[in-house]
Amino acid sequence: MVCFSVFPVRSPGSCSTRASMPMSSVAASASTSSGTDSVVYVFALNEGSGKLEYKIGSTGRTPETRLREWRRGHQSKGFRLVYSVKVVGRNTAYVVEHEAHQQILQYATKIHRSCPDCLVVHQEEFVMELDFGLEDVRDAVDTAKRLVETRRVGCT
Ligand SMILES: [Zn+2]
Repeated sequence: MVCFSVFPVRSPGSCSTRASMPMSSVAASASTSSGTDSVVYVFALNEGSGKLEYKIGSTGRTPETRLREWRRGHQSKGFRLVYSVKVVGRNTAYVVEHEAHQQILQYATKIHRSCPDCLVVHQEEFVMELDFGLEDVRDAVDTAKRLVETRRVGCT
């Protein structure tokens, strides 16, 4: 007796498979990835240092969960959640995050120093230039999301 697998195996992280059960018709059109919610978030860090510094990341879980994890390993930075937007599909969230990193460079400079807590030079932390602030960070994330969803960037 010879058995064939009828259904394609869906590997984690793969974006080749269409969501079989779209969460909603609106959401489903925004992504070809899985229908689960992801989040692009902004954390403030080093508040009180005299400079406005933000971290832009993404997660397939809640931003509060991610915040707890970052706080655990980074006690000196005082991470605080200041903004988040929902994005449909983990892959889309990565693309929006990357685009937000490009957008924020209009208002900010990448932080290149090594992290006092873990010694890594993080790739997603930015210090705002004079006259720019949280509104501009939010704008960068919103703009990134709109651009990505309009262009439908991501896996095809
Ligand atoms: Zn670190």
